Amino acid sequence: MDEYDVIIIGSGPAGLTAGIYAGRQGLKTLILEKQLAGGAGLMVPNMENYPGFELITGKLLIDYTKKQALKYAKINEMEEVKKLEIMGEHEIKVSSQKAEYKTKSVILCTGTTHRKLNAPGEEEFLGRGVFYCAVCDGPLFMGKRILVVGGGNTAIQGALYLDTIGSYIAVAHRRDELRAEKYLQDKLKEKDIAMFWNSVVDEIKGEMFVKSVVLLNKKTNEKKEYPIDGIFIAVGDMPSNNIAKDIGVETDKSGYIITDKGQKTNITGIYSAGDITGGVNQWVVACGEGAVAALSAYDDIMRTS
Ligand code: NAP
Repeated sequence: MDEYDVIIIGSGPAGLTAGIYAGRQGLKTLILEKQLAGGAGLMVPNMENYPGFELITGKLLIDYTKKQALKYAKINEMEEVKKLEIMGEHEIKVSSQKAEYKTKSVILCTGTTHRKLNAPGEEEFLGRGVFYCAVCDGPLFMGKRILVVGGGNTAIQGALYLDTIGSYIAVAHRRDELRAEKYLQDKLKEKDIAMFWNSVVDEIKGEMFVKSVVLLNKKTNEKKEYPIDGIFIAVGDMPSNNIAKDIGVETDKSGYIITDKGQKTNITGIYSAGDITGGVNQWVVACGEGAVAALSAYDDIMRTS
């Protein structure tokens, strides 16, 4: 069984930063990622609020960060962690679908998954017009009609990105006021993007691919069908907390991992960082938490060994 000082689960901004900090402290560090390195970071179209870059895509920032992390940590992509077991103090067994490891500490950076609308047609047309990542799937809809659902930063950033790449966009939001930050709202107005206020998706219809959407106006109770080619659903996140819950890591009532200021969970040797800890979901915050978690792990290992 390979042995490490730190195993980081998840390789979004939090996980990669934790890898950089842990490795630079001289800790033997492994990052396990069930998909490709980058996590939710890969889905961010354009960012204007990451210090040092006036404008950068999530993909490019991940590329830079991954390259830097590889100097200090091993990164195993497409390796999903299935189980954690506490063997003793600062002795944790990590089992993936490929191998078993022994480590002194684990940093959980498992992020979030997309919340579903649970509307008829949503599951049926997944990948055939229904999508949750504007950057990944948007280019397939160049010159096509897309309905964006949601009123948060992800929805409005996605709408602006899709508009930029030449799609015809409308946004449906369940209230008459957006949750997205003001600068995004201003840009949306500038672009004159059509809005369906107080509207929820009643049904997504199609044959082979999505052909239309039925929107219910909650104020008038009126249902109307609109022809579309795609629907980008961005109605928030849910914490990816299965591994954490299985081992008894404490979460809040929404399922986000509870940590102290040192990013320590209720279990000795297990730390957490990034979107999975809830709070302010910002790239820079995830990086900060990743750094703190790695330094906490280092301090604890030094104290106990
Ligand atoms: P979010 O902020 O939670 O917004 C979700 C949106 O979907 C809300 O407008 C919500 O409506 C709507 N919604 C939720 N459930 C719905 C349902 N069942 N049917 C219809 N609409 C529904 O989620 P997010 O936009 O994905 O952002 C997640 C986090 O990442 C946030 O903290 C956000 O600030 C952060 N983020 C930041 C940036 C950035 O660059 N600053 C970019 C992306 C994300 P209500 O408004 O009525 O609740």
